[in-house]
Amino acid sequence: MTRELTYPLKPSLTMARILVADDDPRLLKSLATLLEQRGYDVTAALGGRAACEELSNQRFDLAMLDLRMPDVDGFDVMAHAAGVQADCGIVVVSGESSFSSVSRALRRGAQDYIKKPFDPDELLATLEGVLGKQSLVRAHADVQQRLEKSEALHRYIVNSSPDIVFMLDERGRFCFLNNKIEALLGYRAADLNGKHFRTLIDEQDVTRGTYALQDPGISAENPRTLEVRIKTRSSRKANRYFEITAFPIDHETWPLAADIAAREASQKARFYGTARDITERKEAEAFINFQAYHDLLTRLPNRALFKDRLNLAITQARRNRRKLAVMFLDLDRFKIINDTLGHAMGDRLLQAVTQRLEECLRKGDTLSRFGGDEFTLLLPEINSHEDARGIAKKLIRAMKAPFQLGDHEVFVGVSIGISLYPDAGNSLDQLIQNADIAMYHVKARGKDGYRFFSDTMSIDTAHRLNLERDLRQALDNNELRVFYQPQVSATTGKIVGLEALVRWQHPERGLLYPKDFLPLAEETKLIVDLSEQVLAQACREVKRWINDGHEGLRLAVNMSPIQVDHPRFVENLLQQLHNQDFPPGNLEIEITENVIMSDLEQISLKLRELANVGVRIAIDDFGTGYSSLNYLHRLPIHTLKVDQTFVRGIRTGEDGACIVNAIVAMAHGLKLDIVAEGVETDIQLSYLKGLGCHQVQGFFYGPAQPADAISRLLGCGAIRAAV
Ligand code: C2E
Ligand code: CA
Ligand code: CA
Repeated sequence: MTRELTYPLKPSLTMARILVADDDPRLLKSLATLLEQRGYDVTAALGGRAACEELSNQRFDLAMLDLRMPDVDGFDVMAHAAGVQADCGIVVVSGESSFSSVSRALRRGAQDYIKKPFDPDELLATLEGVLGKQSLVRAHADVQQRLEKSEALHRYIVNSSPDIVFMLDERGRFCFLNNKIEALLGYRAADLNGKHFRTLIDEQDVTRGTYALQDPGISAENPRTLEVRIKTRSSRKANRYFEITAFPIDHETWPLAADIAAREASQKARFYGTARDITERKEAEAFINFQAYHDLLTRLPNRALFKDRLNLAITQARRNRRKLAVMFLDLDRFKIINDTLGHAMGDRLLQAVTQRLEECLRKGDTLSRFGGDEFTLLLPEINSHEDARGIAKKLIRAMKAPFQLGDHEVFVGVSIGISLYPDAGNSLDQLIQNADIAMYHVKARGKDGYRFFSDTMSIDTAHRLNLERDLRQALDNNELRVFYQPQVSATTGKIVGLEALVRWQHPERGLLYPKDFLPLAEETKLIVDLSEQVLAQACREVKRWINDGHEGLRLAVNMSPIQVDHPRFVENLLQQLHNQDFPPGNLEIEITENVIMSDLEQISLKLRELANVGVRIAIDDFGTGYSSLNYLHRLPIHTLKVDQTFVRGIRTGEDGACIVNAIVAMAHGLKLDIVAEGVETDIQLSYLKGLGCHQVQGFFYGPAQPADAISRLLGCGAIRAAV
């Protein structure tokens, strides 16, 4: 019992399970008792066979084996233990002190030995020594295992990181890279080891990239982040955007890795960093940016970007005292094509138009899609009107050839208004608005042409609104008047026709001429009502004269392109003639060449229908529009009206008149009637007569006049020169 006091329990070893084996029952008992009293969990085995059985059945921390046992000796038990539980500690108890058997036991894995007869203190001390060592080994193995697991875990984390993880040495060379680099960029991590990180950076970003790490202010808490483009291994793939976060390594907090290679790398490492692939984000950003400033259909700059560039160009032009031009382009007939062939075709047409327009431009010019079928063009550096005129002509010419949309061949024209800085305004809004106004003037004049803005066009918005309101009232209150300008046979002096020209008897502003209100009427589509009133009034009045004995008297009426474009143009016109009971053979409609060319096929159908009932067709302002004469024999045309500008060219009666000569000759060849417009002098008259051009119209015989004045003229039989 005193032993309990001598050997107080040691908690750390108390739970150790010990197997004691001896063939001497007495000794076995005393050993077991000694150990139990000491607090060990003891199993006693009588002899080697019993010991082997126990070892097979339970786990022990330690086995104390007698070496010499009759059936199965200590060495055999050791061999068995090594097979079933290798980590069980072995202490041999040996009666013989022979060195050879003890050393043999030690060689085979016994940790220690005890000589019989034993001293209890010595025995316990030996036992505890062995158990202590063993638990140290176990703890070490445990730590080792945990370490390996944690290293594997970290390796796993590093390699399966979505980002590239890298370390650089003090000269910026890679000393570690995770596997991600291969998946993202195609390089093998091992191949890059020792290479400078600069070799991967896109040329455009190298300087920025290499300087970034040299900032002394960066640390783990305050890392440097920058976006750079990185080259992929295969040159076929585009470079990718990466966001790199890097900072210098603080070697005091840097753990030393266990394996040698890793330790070497970590000793060389001066920078740690991650690189995240942000290509998709960058592309999305670029797309959003593009979308904000471009039209996605045509990929042209949009209104916002155009204004931005125009603003910049104005500033530069002001500084350098230079001119610039803004053009407003509006496609002719786009709406009809879009409505009849569908939006998909309309879209394709816009793309094809864009391509043709772009081919006419120089670098530095900005073509933008302003909306719908409207485009704006900025020519930032021009010297004169002539430069802009040249481009405008080029653009118009580029649209001449038909566009092939699937099975359809369509024609579109373009109307261009031009405003020059500083002549037409010095602010962005003014320049765009004035180009727009100029464009409307083109439209009103039969489309497909260009005009420069001039102050006379600028009706400010308030004025415009008033005018529109007044014009609506004028239509309601019958303020429109038809004046008639005689078309005279130069040989007989007889009036053969009357051209109806509209006037507006404005209650406050007096008599207004077409130039003051027709553009607005076209723009607002009021022209349709206006034309109806003009035709009705003219039919009524001219019919009276026809019935009064002037059977052959011709009524010439101008047709606006907007009217002619209308799908029910023919129907409406015939309906009106019918309502007024006007003989169709006495009506001549005047249309311009541009109207014809906008859609030859459609127009040809319409004109044919009219010609079939006897309506005559005249080409107004002949010679100023298309130079294509191809249409002349394909359409039912009766009359060519030689434009005033050519007649004005007749001054001396000899020179400068060759165009008139050509037109007259051609008209004769095609057996067309010809009317010369704007004849003001007897020189012009006699020259035209000499050419065989017998119908003339102009101030020489008098301007357009109201019906009562015409009644008097008709009553005279023949008309005398007014001058
Ligand atoms: P236009 O068809 O070329 O008409 C000829 C214009 O020249 C008329 O101007 C006429 O008054 C003017 N004129 C006639 N003889 C002479 C001359 O010897 N010398 C000069 N310098 N000018 C002369 P107006 O009446 O101001 O008409 C201008 C334009 O307005 C017309 O040009 C025509 O395109 C359009 N227009 C006039 N009335 C109507 C109409 O009822 N409907 C449509 N759609 N357009 C019209
Ligand atoms: Ca006319
Ligand atoms: Ca004319």
